[in-house]
Amino acid sequence: MKISPPKPLPTPEELERQLVHFINATLLGGSTAVDRDTRLFEDGYMNSMRILYLIAMVEKSLGARIPDRSVRLANFRTIATIVSVFHPDAAAKATSTADRLFERRGDRSRFASPLELLRQRGDVRVVGAGRVALAGFALEVFEAVDATVVRWAESLGAPEHRYPSLIDAAVLDRANVVIPSAPVIPSEARDRRHSDRGTDPSDRVSLAPAVCYHAYPGWSGQTLGDTPTLLTARGHCYRYEDGNHVPLERLWEFTMREIIVVGTRQQVEDVRQSLVRHVTALVDTLEVDASIETASDPFFAAGDEGRRLMQQAGALKYELRLAVDATGRTIAAASFNHHHDFFGTRFGIRLADDTPAHSGCVAFGLERWVLALLAQHGVERGAWPNAGRAWLDDATQRRTRGAGA
Ligand SMILES: [Zn+2]
Repeated sequence: MKISPPKPLPTPEELERQLVHFINATLLGGSTAVDRDTRLFEDGYMNSMRILYLIAMVEKSLGARIPDRSVRLANFRTIATIVSVFHPDAAAKATSTADRLFERRGDRSRFASPLELLRQRGDVRVVGAGRVALAGFALEVFEAVDATVVRWAESLGAPEHRYPSLIDAAVLDRANVVIPSAPVIPSEARDRRHSDRGTDPSDRVSLAPAVCYHAYPGWSGQTLGDTPTLLTARGHCYRYEDGNHVPLERLWEFTMREIIVVGTRQQVEDVRQSLVRHVTALVDTLEVDASIETASDPFFAAGDEGRRLMQQAGALKYELRLAVDATGRTIAAASFNHHHDFFGTRFGIRLADDTPAHSGCVAFGLERWVLALLAQHGVERGAWPNAGRAWLDDATQRRTRGAGA
């Protein structure tokens, strides 16, 4: 048996050039599109197979295995990022800022949990495990956030839709959702009529874990036009979270406002980026302590590569995180998701050129916004910054006008 001599480690610059060449020549079949700073996922150069080959190439070049926990979007955004994260000589230069799109800091020493005060005042009532009732100032803030997102939706041409809370389990199956926290409920009436078919997925319904699963079946079988197709909807969503419920923060039943888009990759990305800009402008105006970062879920786990890759390498996710107390603990209050052609393929939504449509959704957890805004600015409207009060007034006026119209 021959033992090959150890190959010398490339310098960071050499590794960068090797990877640029490998992606352009091998993965993209002779492209020149990718350079060290090209966003490999956002700009659509990676798919589930290419990322596997790229990881293998990095491992081969460095003669070391990349541990599964390091296979995260944040570490693979650009070639420059890959080199700075994985090359041993360059590792010192790696920073975590690569996965942060936006950051705004407030004076966190002032932040306090508003929950006890809100309960005393009756603005928040825990009506059962993982369920809250809102009133008063908490409800005003809740509706103001929603009205603001609705205004953005209007500006993007997304009409309002309304869906039930229950969704056919068959739709979730088709969307490849496996969420034990959304219990499947046998449809009673049907079960009585077809007791022998009780396990047929078409006979079961579930509580929706997200709003956008209601939207894709509505576009199923359609061929889209030249412009992106959007809609917005607010609905109740359900996640059981093993019973670990925290009022306003981790609810069994919570409220989600989503803006959903289908179209070309670029159209979906444009909508997503436009909403990132709206959100950053809002948190600037409201003087909110916030950051937007790439969600740190690893995009595959050991031993389950194939399926997870398609779902997670394809589903590129940013999260808005808002601080909720003086320790600087943050919660995710919105997510900006690009699903690539995952749902387009699953639900048969096509583009004019007969390829599967891309899709994206931007989702706002309204109760979490209430928690974070009240934690940061207090439970008394009068103590809020001027811009915050003006925003509340504006949103309330808009709603009353809308209701009277
Ligand atoms: Zn969604």
